[in-house]
Amino acid sequence: MAVPKSKISKSRRNQRRAHDSLAAGSYHECSNCGELKRPHHVCAACGHYDGREVADAESI
Ligand SMILES: [Zn+2]
Repeated sequence: MAVPKSKISKSRRNQRRAHDSLAAGSYHECSNCGELKRPHHVCAACGHYDGREVADAESI
């Protein structure tokens, strides 16, 4: 079994974990209905994308 050659100090361990946090999801207002929607996704509330209706709001 591979064994670490030396102990990782708390400082070095925490430096490694400094980038582990999850970023909050990105949301923007729908230009049609104002509902929050994810960028580059069809609006779940009104079914619009890029200024036109592309899907039924109920089917999403
Ligand atoms: Zn919308």
